[in-house]
Amino acid sequence: MRHTLSVLIAAAATTTPALADVPKVVTDFIPAQGLVALVMEDLGPPDMLLGQGANGHDLQLRPSQTAALARADLVVWIGPEMSPWLDRTLEGLGNVPQLRLLSVPGTHLRSVAGAGATNDDADDPAEEEGDHHHSGVDPHAWLDPGNAPLWLDAIAAELARLDPANAVAYADNADRAKAALAATDAEIAHRLAAVRDRPFVVFHDAYGYFSAHYGLTVAGSVAPGDGHAPGAAHLAELRARVVAGAVCLFPETGRDPAYLEQLAEGTDVRIGASLDPEGMAVAPGPDAYPALLRQLADTLLDCLGQG
Ligand SMILES: [Zn+2]
Repeated sequence: MRHTLSVLIAAAATTTPALADVPKVVTDFIPAQGLVALVMEDLGPPDMLLGQGANGHDLQLRPSQTAALARADLVVWIGPEMSPWLDRTLEGLGNVPQLRLLSVPGTHLRSVAGAGATNDDADDPAEEEGDHHHSGVDPHAWLDPGNAPLWLDAIAAELARLDPANAVAYADNADRAKAALAATDAEIAHRLAAVRDRPFVVFHDAYGYFSAHYGLTVAGSVAPGDGHAPGAAHLAELRARVVAGAVCLFPETGRDPAYLEQLAEGTDVRIGASLDPEGMAVAPGPDAYPALLRQLADTLLDCLGQG
Protein backbone atom coordinates (compact mmCIF):
# COMPACT_ATOMS: atom_id res chain seq x y z
CA MET A 1 0.00 0.00 0.00
CA ARG A 2 2.78 2.37 1.03
CA HIS A 3 4.66 1.48 -2.13
CA THR A 4 1.67 1.82 -4.44
CA LEU A 5 0.95 5.26 -3.05
CA SER A 6 4.47 6.56 -3.62
CA VAL A 7 4.49 5.17 -7.15
CA LEU A 8 1.18 6.89 -7.85
CA ILE A 9 2.45 10.19 -6.48
CA ALA A 10 5.68 9.90 -8.44
CA ALA A 11 3.74 9.10 -11.58
CA ALA A 12 1.26 11.92 -11.07
CA ALA A 13 3.81 14.70 -11.17
CA THR A 14 7.56 14.38 -11.07
CA THR A 15 7.92 17.78 -9.42
CA THR A 16 5.74 16.76 -6.46
CA PRO A 17 7.81 15.35 -3.60
CA ALA A 18 7.24 11.67 -2.84
CA LEU A 19 5.83 12.17 0.66
CA ALA A 20 5.20 8.52 1.41
CA ASP A 21 8.89 7.64 1.65
CA VAL A 22 10.15 10.69 3.51
CA PRO A 23 12.41 9.47 6.33
CA LYS A 24 11.28 9.79 9.94
CA VAL A 25 13.86 12.12 11.49
CA VAL A 26 14.29 12.57 15.24
CA THR A 27 16.39 15.49 16.53
CA ASP A 28 17.65 16.31 20.02
CA PHE A 29 16.71 19.96 20.50
CA ILE A 30 16.09 23.30 18.78
CA PRO A 31 19.32 23.95 16.81
CA ALA A 32 19.23 20.53 15.13
CA GLN A 33 15.44 20.56 14.76
CA GLY A 34 15.52 24.00 13.12
CA LEU A 35 18.29 23.10 10.67
CA VAL A 36 16.64 19.81 9.66
CA ALA A 37 13.30 21.63 9.27
CA LEU A 38 15.00 24.06 6.85
CA VAL A 39 16.19 21.13 4.72
CA MET A 40 12.91 19.18 4.87
CA GLU A 41 10.51 22.13 4.66
CA ASP A 42 7.11 20.83 3.53
CA LEU A 43 8.36 17.26 3.29
CA GLY A 44 7.53 17.03 6.95
CA PRO A 45 8.56 18.32 10.37
CA PRO A 46 11.37 16.45 12.14
CA ASP A 47 10.55 15.30 15.67
CA MET A 48 12.34 16.76 18.66
CA LEU A 49 13.12 14.92 21.90
CA LEU A 50 13.24 17.98 24.13
CA GLY A 51 10.02 19.76 24.91
CA GLN A 52 10.06 23.53 25.25
CA GLY A 53 11.81 24.54 28.45
CA ALA A 54 13.82 21.32 28.76
CA ASN A 55 17.59 21.53 29.10
CA GLY A 56 19.60 19.93 26.28
CA HIS A 57 22.48 19.13 28.58
CA ASP A 58 20.51 16.81 30.78
CA LEU A 59 17.36 14.88 30.04
CA GLN A 60 15.67 11.68 31.13
CA LEU A 61 13.99 10.12 28.09
CA ARG A 62 10.48 8.75 28.54
CA PRO A 63 9.86 5.20 27.23
CA SER A 64 7.79 6.66 24.36
CA GLN A 65 10.75 8.81 23.29
CA THR A 66 13.11 5.85 23.37
CA ALA A 67 10.60 3.96 21.21
CA ALA A 68 10.51 6.89 18.74
CA LEU A 69 14.31 6.79 18.56
CA ALA A 70 14.25 3.06 17.84
CA ARG A 71 11.78 3.65 14.95
CA ALA A 72 13.67 6.63 13.49
CA ASP A 73 15.16 6.42 10.01
CA LEU A 74 17.69 9.06 11.06
CA VAL A 75 18.67 10.76 14.32
CA VAL A 76 20.25 14.21 13.86
CA TRP A 77 21.83 15.57 17.03
CA ILE A 78 24.62 17.82 18.20
CA GLY A 79 26.71 15.01 19.71
CA PRO A 80 27.74 13.27 22.93
CA GLU A 81 29.74 16.32 24.03
CA MET A 82 26.41 18.13 24.43
CA SER A 83 24.01 15.31 25.28
CA PRO A 84 25.63 12.30 26.95
CA TRP A 85 22.13 11.08 27.87
CA LEU A 86 21.31 10.56 24.21
CA ASP A 87 24.63 8.84 23.50
CA ARG A 88 23.88 6.21 26.15
CA THR A 89 20.38 5.61 24.77
CA LEU A 90 21.52 5.32 21.14
CA GLU A 91 24.27 2.92 22.18
CA GLY A 92 21.64 0.75 23.85
CA LEU A 93 19.48 0.77 20.72
CA GLY A 94 22.21 -0.57 18.46
CA ASN A 95 22.32 0.59 14.87
CA VAL A 96 19.96 3.58 14.49
CA PRO A 97 21.41 5.74 11.68
CA GLN A 98 22.65 9.00 13.13
CA LEU A 99 24.23 12.25 12.06
CA ARG A 100 26.29 13.94 14.78
CA LEU A 101 26.62 17.57 13.79
CA LEU A 102 29.80 18.16 15.82
CA SER A 103 31.41 15.36 13.77
CA VAL A 104 30.60 16.87 10.34
CA PRO A 105 33.97 17.37 8.56
CA GLY A 106 35.10 20.99 8.55
CA THR A 107 33.02 21.99 11.58
CA HIS A 108 34.72 24.75 13.52
CA LEU A 109 35.20 23.47 17.06
CA ARG A 110 36.50 25.37 20.07
CA SER A 111 38.10 23.85 23.11
CA VAL A 112 36.48 24.51 26.46
CA ALA A 113 39.62 26.23 27.73
CA GLY A 114 39.35 28.89 25.04
CA ALA A 115 35.68 29.53 25.62
CA GLY A 116 35.88 32.49 27.95
CA ALA A 117 35.32 31.44 31.54
CA THR A 118 38.02 29.99 33.72
CA ASN A 119 36.42 26.70 34.58
CA ASP A 120 38.69 26.01 37.52
CA ASP A 121 36.46 25.16 40.44
CA ALA A 122 38.18 21.85 41.04
CA ASP A 123 36.67 21.62 44.50
CA ASP A 124 33.13 21.70 43.16
CA PRO A 125 31.83 18.12 43.54
CA ALA A 126 28.89 18.72 41.17
CA GLU A 127 31.28 19.19 38.26
CA GLU A 128 32.55 15.63 38.47
CA GLU A 129 29.29 13.88 37.73
CA GLY A 130 27.55 15.81 35.00
CA ASP A 131 29.99 17.99 33.09
CA HIS A 132 29.26 17.63 29.38
CA HIS A 133 32.64 19.09 28.52
CA HIS A 134 34.37 15.79 29.20
CA SER A 135 35.94 15.62 25.75
CA GLY A 136 37.44 19.11 25.92
CA VAL A 137 35.23 20.30 23.04
CA ASP A 138 32.84 23.17 23.68
CA PRO A 139 29.60 21.65 22.33
CA HIS A 140 27.72 24.92 21.64
CA ALA A 141 28.98 24.99 18.04
CA TRP A 142 25.60 25.96 16.51
CA LEU A 143 26.29 29.42 17.92
CA ASP A 144 28.96 29.83 15.23
CA PRO A 145 26.79 30.65 12.21
CA GLY A 146 29.76 29.64 10.06
CA ASN A 147 28.99 26.01 10.93
CA ALA A 148 25.39 26.12 9.73
CA PRO A 149 26.12 25.84 5.96
CA LEU A 150 28.25 22.72 6.50
CA TRP A 151 25.58 21.17 8.67
CA LEU A 152 22.77 21.99 6.22
CA ASP A 153 24.74 20.28 3.44
CA ALA A 154 25.45 17.25 5.62
CA ILE A 155 21.76 16.96 6.57
CA ALA A 156 20.71 17.27 2.90
CA ALA A 157 23.26 14.62 1.86
CA GLU A 158 22.14 12.19 4.55
CA LEU A 159 18.44 12.67 3.68
CA ALA A 160 19.19 12.26 -0.04
CA ARG A 161 20.96 8.97 0.69
CA LEU A 162 17.91 7.68 2.60
CA ASP A 163 15.35 9.21 0.21
CA PRO A 164 16.87 9.60 -3.30
CA ALA A 165 13.48 10.53 -4.80
CA ASN A 166 13.61 13.86 -2.94
CA ALA A 167 17.35 14.50 -3.25
CA VAL A 168 16.87 17.57 -5.43
CA ALA A 169 14.37 19.09 -3.01
CA TYR A 170 16.73 18.59 -0.06
CA ALA A 171 19.64 20.15 -1.92
CA ASP A 172 17.54 23.11 -3.13
CA ASN A 173 16.15 23.72 0.35
CA ALA A 174 19.64 23.61 1.84
CA ASP A 175 20.91 26.11 -0.74
CA ARG A 176 18.03 28.50 -0.07
CA ALA A 177 18.57 28.20 3.68
CA LYS A 178 22.29 28.92 3.31
CA ALA A 179 21.59 32.09 1.33
CA ALA A 180 19.01 33.30 3.86
CA LEU A 181 21.31 32.54 6.81
CA ALA A 182 24.20 34.39 5.19
CA ALA A 183 21.97 37.47 5.02
CA THR A 184 20.86 37.03 8.66
CA ASP A 185 24.48 36.59 9.74
CA ALA A 186 25.59 39.76 7.92
CA GLU A 187 22.73 41.74 9.41
CA ILE A 188 23.54 40.55 12.95
CA ALA A 189 27.27 41.28 12.47
CA HIS A 190 26.42 44.80 11.33
CA ARG A 191 24.17 45.45 14.32
CA LEU A 192 26.51 43.95 16.93
CA ALA A 193 29.54 45.88 15.64
CA ALA A 194 28.46 48.82 17.82
CA VAL A 195 28.87 46.86 21.08
CA ARG A 196 31.93 44.74 20.36
CA ASP A 197 34.05 46.37 23.06
CA ARG A 198 31.41 46.29 25.82
CA PRO A 199 32.19 43.47 28.28
CA PHE A 200 29.35 41.38 29.66
CA VAL A 201 28.87 38.43 31.99
CA VAL A 202 26.69 35.45 31.05
CA PHE A 203 25.13 32.65 33.03
CA HIS A 204 26.75 29.53 31.56
CA ASP A 205 29.76 28.86 29.40
CA ALA A 206 27.89 28.70 26.08
CA TYR A 207 28.94 31.84 24.18
CA GLY A 208 32.51 31.17 23.01
CA TYR A 209 31.46 30.52 19.40
CA PHE A 210 29.01 33.41 19.19
CA SER A 211 31.37 35.94 20.76
CA ALA A 212 34.32 34.82 18.62
CA HIS A 213 32.25 34.98 15.43
CA TYR A 214 30.92 38.48 16.11
CA GLY A 215 33.94 39.81 18.03
CA LEU A 216 32.08 40.31 21.31
CA THR A 217 33.68 40.62 24.75
CA VAL A 218 32.50 37.98 27.24
CA ALA A 219 34.04 38.91 30.59
CA GLY A 220 33.03 35.67 32.28
CA SER A 221 30.31 33.16 32.99
CA VAL A 222 28.73 32.38 36.33
CA ALA A 223 28.31 28.63 35.95
CA PRO A 224 30.75 26.28 34.26
CA GLY A 225 29.67 23.90 31.51
CA ASP A 226 26.08 22.83 31.78
CA GLY A 227 25.14 25.16 34.58
CA HIS A 228 26.19 23.58 37.86
CA ALA A 229 26.40 25.82 40.90
CA PRO A 230 29.55 27.97 40.80
CA GLY A 231 32.19 27.84 43.54
CA ALA A 232 32.83 30.72 45.93
CA ALA A 233 36.31 31.49 44.54
CA HIS A 234 34.93 31.72 41.01
CA LEU A 235 32.14 34.08 42.11
CA ALA A 236 34.64 36.35 43.90
CA GLU A 237 36.77 36.53 40.77
CA LEU A 238 33.72 37.34 38.65
CA ARG A 239 32.64 40.01 41.09
CA ALA A 240 36.04 41.67 40.61
CA ARG A 241 35.52 41.69 36.84
CA VAL A 242 32.03 43.12 37.22
CA VAL A 243 33.34 45.91 39.42
CA ALA A 244 36.17 46.46 36.91
CA GLY A 245 33.73 47.35 34.18
CA ALA A 246 31.29 44.78 32.83
CA VAL A 247 28.44 46.69 31.20
CA CYS A 248 25.70 44.05 31.52
CA LEU A 249 24.92 40.74 33.18
CA PHE A 250 22.63 38.39 31.28
CA PRO A 251 20.46 35.76 32.95
CA GLU A 252 19.41 32.73 30.97
CA THR A 253 16.08 31.20 30.06
CA GLY A 254 15.19 28.46 32.53
CA ARG A 255 17.99 29.26 35.00
CA ASP A 256 17.81 30.88 38.41
CA PRO A 257 19.11 34.49 38.14
CA ALA A 258 19.99 34.69 41.88
CA TYR A 259 23.77 34.53 41.36
CA LEU A 260 23.66 37.31 38.78
CA GLU A 261 21.61 39.49 41.09
CA GLN A 262 24.20 38.95 43.83
CA LEU A 263 27.00 39.92 41.45
CA ALA A 264 25.21 43.10 40.45
CA GLU A 265 24.52 44.26 43.99
CA GLY A 266 26.13 47.59 44.82
CA THR A 267 27.55 48.07 41.29
CA ASP A 268 26.41 50.08 38.27
CA VAL A 269 26.17 47.00 36.08
CA ARG A 270 22.84 46.51 34.28
CA ILE A 271 20.94 43.23 34.25
CA GLY A 272 19.71 42.42 30.75
CA ALA A 273 16.85 40.20 29.64
CA SER A 274 17.37 36.43 29.50
CA LEU A 275 19.56 34.96 26.76
CA ASP A 276 18.42 31.65 25.28
CA PRO A 277 21.49 30.05 23.62
CA GLU A 278 19.94 26.59 23.50
CA GLY A 279 16.56 27.71 22.17
CA MET A 280 14.57 26.55 25.18
CA ALA A 281 11.85 29.14 24.47
CA VAL A 282 12.12 29.04 20.66
CA ALA A 283 9.31 27.37 18.71
CA PRO A 284 10.45 24.47 16.50
CA GLY A 285 10.35 24.76 12.71
CA PRO A 286 12.23 26.34 9.80
CA ASP A 287 12.40 29.73 11.56
CA ALA A 288 13.89 28.31 14.77
CA TYR A 289 17.59 28.62 13.96
CA PRO A 290 17.60 32.20 12.62
CA ALA A 291 15.20 33.15 15.44
CA LEU A 292 17.63 31.77 18.01
CA LEU A 293 20.50 33.86 16.59
CA ARG A 294 18.36 37.00 16.30
CA GLN A 295 17.06 36.64 19.84
CA LEU A 296 20.62 36.54 21.17
CA ALA A 297 21.61 39.60 19.16
CA ASP A 298 18.48 41.56 20.14
CA THR A 299 18.86 40.77 23.84
CA LEU A 300 22.56 41.67 23.87
CA LEU A 301 21.92 44.94 22.02
CA ASP A 302 18.99 45.95 24.23
CA CYS A 303 21.30 46.10 27.23
CA LEU A 304 24.82 46.67 25.82
CA GLY A 305 23.57 49.34 23.41
CA GLN A 306 22.25 51.65 26.13
CA GLY A 307 24.05 54.89 26.92
ZN1 LIG B 1 24.95 24.84 27.28
